[in-house]
Amino acid sequence: MSYQTINPLTDEVIKTYDNHDDAYVEKAIAKGHALYKKWRNDPVESRAAALNKVADVMEAQTDELAKVLTLEMGKRFLEAQGEVAICVSIARYYAKNAAEFLKPEPIESSIGPAQTISRPTGVLMTVEPWNFPYYQIMRVFAPNFMVGNPMLLKHASYTPMAAGAFEKVVSEAGLPDGAFTNLYVDYDQVNHIIADDRVQGVALTGSERAGQLIAAEAGKSMKQSSLELGGSDPFIVLEDADLSEIKKIIGGARLYNAGQVCTSSKRFIVTENNYDAVLDMLKTAFAEAKIGDPMDATTTLAPLSTSNAKQNLTKQVKLAVEAGATLAYGSVEQNLPAAQFEPVILTNITKENPAFYQEFFGPVGQVYKVKDEEEAIALANDSHYGLSGVVFGGSADHAAEVASQLETGAVFVNSFGGTLPELPFGGVKNSGYGRELGRFGIETFVNKETIVTK
Ligand code: NAP
Repeated sequence: MSYQTINPLTDEVIKTYDNHDDAYVEKAIAKGHALYKKWRNDPVESRAAALNKVADVMEAQTDELAKVLTLEMGKRFLEAQGEVAICVSIARYYAKNAAEFLKPEPIESSIGPAQTISRPTGVLMTVEPWNFPYYQIMRVFAPNFMVGNPMLLKHASYTPMAAGAFEKVVSEAGLPDGAFTNLYVDYDQVNHIIADDRVQGVALTGSERAGQLIAAEAGKSMKQSSLELGGSDPFIVLEDADLSEIKKIIGGARLYNAGQVCTSSKRFIVTENNYDAVLDMLKTAFAEAKIGDPMDATTTLAPLSTSNAKQNLTKQVKLAVEAGATLAYGSVEQNLPAAQFEPVILTNITKENPAFYQEFFGPVGQVYKVKDEEEAIALANDSHYGLSGVVFGGSADHAAEVASQLETGAVFVNSFGGTLPELPFGGVKNSGYGRELGRFGIETFVNKETIVTK
């Protein structure tokens, strides 16, 4: 496996990176382990200032860091600046709240006074994807740094520059050696790291396939794992929904980050009366998207992350159409250079069509017509995924009731929500297990140690 920085706007190879050898990996684990042993005895709040420093360094270098994302995975520069900003707020959130989240909890016990103490578990291995290269790291790094779990990272082979930039930020913030180590390693090395006794957990964000393999490796050596996987999130429009509100957000719900968001709306499920209007809105939003250079502030739709991703998405669209889906917008042929992709809308997707159960990780919207909300809920739940979702309805209370019937990790009622440090993030079914962010996001790799005093 080779780590490369390739500009998806042009397909130009900017840099190729050497993999780290096993001796480097051993040193990284050893440094992390030594730090864990020390951190076990330090109070949680003793790490808060250092995490705030990481936030400060990131904030001060926002543009420089954002440019790396734009160059390496094609993210619009404005969105890349936003990604750095959310990382800064996640770091500050955990620096502020971790001690409260992890404070000892007294327990009424018939033996005598008892309490549960939150302790670190050890070095944590993380495997992250390219779509939000800093944010994916920060979601795991910030809470686990506060817990006292040193972190090793294997980033996507497409985003080695971002991985290195994050490591540099941590180093410039003055964090101790071993607190965070970026590793350019292959899958076998990842498996060896997971099996190492000093490593006590693995967190993955990525595809279902990677989830199956990483969880199996974790299971073999009985390590705690968390999986943040794919999604094919529903966007349900009820009969009484305010269409003017939907018009404002429908384009972004599908096209933000060039549609490469696990929680972007991928299946628009619309009741009969609103179907034509909502389909038109989506077409208009797609037609208005200005495809081009992600550094250009007037561009609204960036290229995909790689030309490989473009080929795969094009193939999915082709197969969907061959299986009977209607091309309501766009075309099967993609004629723009490199990884640039013209958006597509598919309708009339039957259950037999492979597209019905697939995640389309790019600017492809599926629109379904349903006769009533019961059918909308059934269709939304007829998915292998359950990550997030959106419900629009005239009565927020009623829409929230509909939302409560969805099998998913989160639902936004009458809005398309982004991510916030305080909102737990994660899924059910093939979207994975465990939660990141919020209070729950700090608890995954914690030893809840019960102490009873007689
Ligand atoms: P991917 O192929 O699974 O890659 C994700 C990461 O896993 C990369 O670092 C990849 O390394 C690594 N990886 C893959 N197989 C591995 C193995 N057997 N052993 C060790 N590492 C392995 O995912 P992707 O297609 O690039 O990313 C898109 C997927 O991630 C989509 O399904 C998306 O929905 C999901 N996602 C989920 C969330 C969430 O929070 N739930 C957020 C973002 C994305 P290489 O690059 O070297 O192959």
